[in-house]
Amino acid sequence: MHFKPFKIIDSHIHFPHYAFAEPLVSILAEAGVEKLAVVCTPDEKRFSLLPDALYLKGCYPGRVYLFGGLDISPLLMTLDNAGETFARYVDVLAGLGADGIKMLEGKAEMRKRLPIPDFDGPVYAPYWEKLAERQMPLIFHVNDPEEFWDEKKIPSWAREMGWYYGDGTYIDNEAQYRQVLNVLDRHPDLKVIFAHFFFLSAQLERLADYLDRYPNMHVDLTPGIEMYFNFAVHPQKTRDFFIKYQDRIVYGTDIGAQALLADTGVGIEAEESLARIEVVRGFLEKEGPFQLTHEGFLFGGPQARFLGIHLPDQVLEKIYHQNFERFAGAVPKLLDNAAILEECQRLEAVINTIGAVMPGMTGDTSSITKVRDFFSHSI
Ligand SMILES: [Zn+2]
Repeated sequence: MHFKPFKIIDSHIHFPHYAFAEPLVSILAEAGVEKLAVVCTPDEKRFSLLPDALYLKGCYPGRVYLFGGLDISPLLMTLDNAGETFARYVDVLAGLGADGIKMLEGKAEMRKRLPIPDFDGPVYAPYWEKLAERQMPLIFHVNDPEEFWDEKKIPSWAREMGWYYGDGTYIDNEAQYRQVLNVLDRHPDLKVIFAHFFFLSAQLERLADYLDRYPNMHVDLTPGIEMYFNFAVHPQKTRDFFIKYQDRIVYGTDIGAQALLADTGVGIEAEESLARIEVVRGFLEKEGPFQLTHEGFLFGGPQARFLGIHLPDQVLEKIYHQNFERFAGAVPKLLDNAAILEECQRLEAVINTIGAVMPGMTGDTSSITKVRDFFSHSI
């Protein structure tokens, strides 16, 4: 599929292993993506993917923004004052040269796996306070498509991924919305992008109400493929929404999510990544129905039909890069080598300690070794 040469920043890319650096960069170059933000998620096997992201940013410092994940060990060891530890970790991440923070903690499956306390309760309070005070950008995954809670409506691929949440053992999605909105009521200036359109693509009036209430709240366009089917139901209404909230919508694709989730062993694939770009850019730029020329992962099969809303160029410039630059800075922050080496040492010690309480952990610290090697030579 052919697209106009806009300046593009992809705000939502997963980078699950340092070995994927070159394939990722060459895919993005082929697709004309100028900069990217790597979002780090907690990792059951290797504990933290922060070292891998630091390595990528170290290799391409002017092109990579880094959204570090929280160190989740306080949840397992000192739950009551975890929020204070998280607040201090905001300073640590900023000190390394991270551009923001990514939280996957609002995905229902993660909330079941880890003892994550209520977001609006006392544990997290010092953490939100710190984020708001520092104006540290946050990319926050809260909930999942609403049909994942509904036995009759959940798509079979989602059920196969283990994302059926309606059996009473997972947090309710409305309960999570309430918790997060309570946090925003306390900190209306919190700088946040809710990933995947906050999973409200079928409830645009509701989302509009939140965007009106919280001036620093944004949403990203990362599929959630259901989003693009929801958008296609009332294309004119969707387009009006995009025009009205053109300053609050941010481009992202979730490239690398397959490598992160499916563990196929093939890493970040060009075909699947290009399909993601086609879904999002086709929707924004094309007029009317279009079909993918690349094959995606979790994309509803080849019969899936997509619909474009053909936005004006000046709106596209905002969605493709200007909104993100206002959110996270016009250029990525500089890395601090000494601080990175110190954090590597700490992470290694945590992995050695926590292996005993987290049964899935492999104790693999090769990415820490890689980072240490890289940054001690470039001092
Ligand atoms: Zn993601």
